Amino acid sequence: MTNDTDLDDDSEEKTFAVQRDRVDAPIRRLFATYGREQWFPLSVGLVASLAAHLLSLVPPYILGVAVDAIFNQNDLYELPLVPQSWIPNDPIGQFWLSAGLIIATFVGGAVGAWVKGWGLNEFAQSIQHEIRVDTYDAMQRLDLGFFAEKQTGELMSILNNDVNRLEQFLNGGLNVMTMIGVTVVGVTGLLVYINWQLALVTLATVPVVAVFTHKFVQTIQPKYSEVRSTVGRLNARLENNLGGIEVIKASSAEDYEFDRVTDSSQEYYDTNWDAIRTRIMFFPGLQLSSGFGFVLTFVVGGLWVFNGPPLFFSGGFSIGNFVTFVFLSQRFVWPLAQFGEFINMYQQAVASAERVFGLMDEPSGLDIDDDAPDLTVTDGVVTYENVTFGYDEESIVEDVNFTVGGGETLALVGPTGAGKSTVLKLLLRFYDLETGTIRVDGRDIRDTSLVSLRKSIGYVSQETFLFAGTVAENVAYGSFEATRRDVIEAAKAAKAHEFIEDLPDGYDTEVGERGVKLSGGQRQRVGIARVLLQDPEILLLDEATSDVDTETELHIQESLDALLEDRTVLAIAHRLSTIKDADTILVLEDGQVVERGDHRALIARDGLYADLWGVQAGMIEDIPSR
Ligand code: ADP
Repeated sequence: MTNDTDLDDDSEEKTFAVQRDRVDAPIRRLFATYGREQWFPLSVGLVASLAAHLLSLVPPYILGVAVDAIFNQNDLYELPLVPQSWIPNDPIGQFWLSAGLIIATFVGGAVGAWVKGWGLNEFAQSIQHEIRVDTYDAMQRLDLGFFAEKQTGELMSILNNDVNRLEQFLNGGLNVMTMIGVTVVGVTGLLVYINWQLALVTLATVPVVAVFTHKFVQTIQPKYSEVRSTVGRLNARLENNLGGIEVIKASSAEDYEFDRVTDSSQEYYDTNWDAIRTRIMFFPGLQLSSGFGFVLTFVVGGLWVFNGPPLFFSGGFSIGNFVTFVFLSQRFVWPLAQFGEFINMYQQAVASAERVFGLMDEPSGLDIDDDAPDLTVTDGVVTYENVTFGYDEESIVEDVNFTVGGGETLALVGPTGAGKSTVLKLLLRFYDLETGTIRVDGRDIRDTSLVSLRKSIGYVSQETFLFAGTVAENVAYGSFEATRRDVIEAAKAAKAHEFIEDLPDGYDTEVGERGVKLSGGQRQRVGIARVLLQDPEILLLDEATSDVDTETELHIQESLDALLEDRTVLAIAHRLSTIKDADTILVLEDGQVVERGDHRALIARDGLYADLWGVQAGMIEDIPSR
């Protein structure tokens, strides 16, 4: 059992890995596809971010100038971009000017930070929203085969975690990037402008940091991939267990499942720790090397101020210059450390974008022609010609042929797993055929639009799924324009009106996962009312196998009678008594039609149908082996 599941996890991982390989330059695609529409908040955000970070470099410079001109009084008070005529001559005036300018840059910085906050958040949030709905839309259009293969938890993880991670990158990442850009370019420029020789000393550690960071990125990248995969597996496991909680309890498998969840969680813990270990070694190491650069600047610059140019340096260096250098070189430490964090965010964003776009690019198993004309059902004749289909390589339905005339009923019977449900699903085009053709009124269903085809067909499945919402909403599901009166009429025809009226809030009673629980028979009648409201020309009916009591069965039969009238019906019958009057009965065995005819003819034939009938009527114990 454990081995099987592990295999499943592996193959599931592989399918996504295949997807990931197909996505080229995902971050570029992110900006190209979504960034363009959001250019306004993005450019406002980036410009404001740039301005705010540039302004933060001004105070240390003013401080240096002020120290030399006011306190040391050995230099002229001059500032780039400020006309000399604006600058007061007396030191106290210059002092207040400095204070005023510093305050102004702080205020400007705060305004810039606010605008940046608006722009980048607006940009990131909008994109997050758009990507999420686009991905959901793309996923929802995929054929059912896709959902059978994938774990819900994994898909949820893409729609939630990965999309959120992109948002974090678009907001935080871009901000950090401008900060790094401005600081590295701005600080370097300013340092070189003041004293290029000492600037070289300050910058000496940069190559070391660069190599160090590169190494870090190479190491951490595969680790993050691994973390993302284990999160997906953990989610899949949790989601599976919550869905199957009834089975877990009934099988007393709590301990077994606890162990499996513990294993998955442990796996996440291990891979995450592995990544964290690399990260927590990197950042202090980075700070240490940047700190070393700072100390070097302090020592060389300090000696220069004390004793004149040390070693092979030449030229003057004032206390003011020294103050500016000390302040600014400290500014290097944080951005360089942040650089690793940025790469980190970037790598994670690449991994997330690959998964998101991988899901968006997932090809539909259906060969859909967007320009196909709508299907208009006139007579409702359904024809299967040499229909063969399998979910995998193995054929589940083989060379099935039949025609159901307009308004007639065809019943499918046969042992479990014979392929009856599959035959019905093929008409809805949940899957495309391998060979053969299915026609409605002579038109190949592949040459009609999918929406019109499915609108003409009503499907009552064994289990009616109720969405979270009111009973009325559930009846009207798919017929969203229906009025309350339409809903009540459909419910009355489906013999559901009475029990619905008896619910605490009648038609407004909340049902679904967290609402009032309806019995299987009640749900089925809501499902029948739903289809009655849609009023399709063709009806697919998968009769419930669950044992319902005779009275409920009678109710359901009554509601079905209303539904079957004047429609072409393909029905899977488990209780043969319900299909005695069907125009044609097809007996399926291992995906092949083994008998066909009406009830009387099939009984006379004394084959599989007669045996099935005998078992159900209690005349024989079991189907004799033939
Ligand atoms: P029936 O309705 O007669 O009980 P089905 O059409 O449900 O039979 O199933 C026929 C066979 O197809 C079964 O062996 C079942 O395991 C297989 N099958 C059904 N659905 C899928 C699926 N989504 N993917 C793979 N195999 C499937």
